[in-house]
Amino acid sequence: MFHAHAELALFFGLDPHDFPQGIKWKVDGHIVEYDAEMVDHMYEGLDWIRDQLRPGCHLFVEVKVPIERWTFEKGARGTCDIAIIYPRERRILLADWKYGKIAVVAEKNDQLTLYALGLWAKFGKKYFNDDPKDITVDFRLLQPRVPLKGSAWTTTMKKLLKEGESIKIDAKATYEENAPRTAGLKQCQYCRAASTCQALAEFNLKLFALKFEDIDEGYEYDEPPEIQDAHRLTPERRSYVLLHKVMFTRWLELLQKDAMRDFSEGKPVPKMKVVSGRAGIRKFRQKQQLSVILRLISDVGIEEAYKRIMISPAETEKKIGKKRFKERYGDFVEQSPPKPALVPDTDERPSLESKAMLFDIEDTDKQEGEYDG
Ligand code: SF4
Repeated sequence: MFHAHAELALFFGLDPHDFPQGIKWKVDGHIVEYDAEMVDHMYEGLDWIRDQLRPGCHLFVEVKVPIERWTFEKGARGTCDIAIIYPRERRILLADWKYGKIAVVAEKNDQLTLYALGLWAKFGKKYFNDDPKDITVDFRLLQPRVPLKGSAWTTTMKKLLKEGESIKIDAKATYEENAPRTAGLKQCQYCRAASTCQALAEFNLKLFALKFEDIDEGYEYDEPPEIQDAHRLTPERRSYVLLHKVMFTRWLELLQKDAMRDFSEGKPVPKMKVVSGRAGIRKFRQKQQLSVILRLISDVGIEEAYKRIMISPAETEKKIGKKRFKERYGDFVEQSPPKPALVPDTDERPSLESKAMLFDIEDTDKQEGEYDG
C-alpha cells in the first residue's frame, strides 16, 4: 500500500498529501491505513529519489525483472521499487522501500543483488550494449521507520554478475534430491519448511551443545536438557549464540504453533496438553453499557465514572502531521534516551563507548533482540 501510493506519486509528479488519508487497505491479512505518519515518511524518500534524477537518466518504478536465470524457478521475477539508469555515467541506482521497523542492511543483500541482475538482464543490452565494464551499481534501502532511515551499498556490475554465478550454484543445489540444507539467519527467516527442517533443528540445538539423542534421552527419562553454564562460555561463543537468538526464538514459536495446531486437530502432542491460560482483562459488555453507566454514576458519581486521558505526542503527530507537530509542540516534548541495544557489528549505527553503557543490565535482559538479520 505504501508502495502503491509512492509509485503513483512518482508517476504523476504528485505529493503524498495529494492522496486522501484514512483509506484502509488489506495487506497480508492486516488492515493498514494511509495516514499522516505514512505521508510524512513518504516525503523523505520521494525527495531523495527526485534529487537523483538528471537529464538523460531513465527512471523505472515498480518494474518487474526476470530472475529465473539465477533462481531456476520457472517464470520467477522480482520487482524493483525504483531503478534509475544513467547510461552516460555508466551507473545504475536501485532503491527499495522497506516500511518495517527492523533495520535491513543493503550490503551484500541477496534480494537487491538478484534485482540488479534481473535489471541487467532486462536493460543491459539496451543501455550498456551488454558490457558490464566500469558500471557502478548503487543500492539504497529507504527505511523511514528505522533510526538511520536506510542503508546504502556501492559495488560494480561485474562483481554482481560474479556473485550471480554463486547464486546459481546454490539455487541449483536446492533442486537436487537430498540437497544439503544449510541453516542460517537469513535463509531460514521466512522458510516455510522451518518448523520441520532437520538442518535448522540441528543448528539450533548445537547452539546449546545438544543433540537429538540428548533430547530423546531427556524425553524418556524426564530430565531437563543440559545447557552449558552461560558464565563459562567464551565471549566469542556467547556472541555466536546471541547473534542467532532471533533464529532460535522464532523456531521455538513455530514449534509451539505446530503443537497447538496438532492439538486442535486431535493429533498427538506427547507429555503436553492445552489448558485455559490466564484470563484477559475484564471489560463491561457492550449491550449492558447503558445500565452499567447508570449504575456507575449512581455508585461513584459522574466525575469518577469517566477518565479523560490526554493523547500522546505520537498520536498528536499522527493527527496533525510531522511539520505542524514540530512547530507547535517541538519544545514541549521529552523522550527518554534510547536504551543500549546489542546488535551485530554489521549494523550501520556507530557503536556506543563502553563507558556510555552504564545501564541496568536487567533492562538488557528483558530487551528483545532488535536486529532481524
Ligand atoms: S529452514 Fe531448512 S530448508 Fe528452510 S532455509 Fe533453513 S535450512 Fe533451508
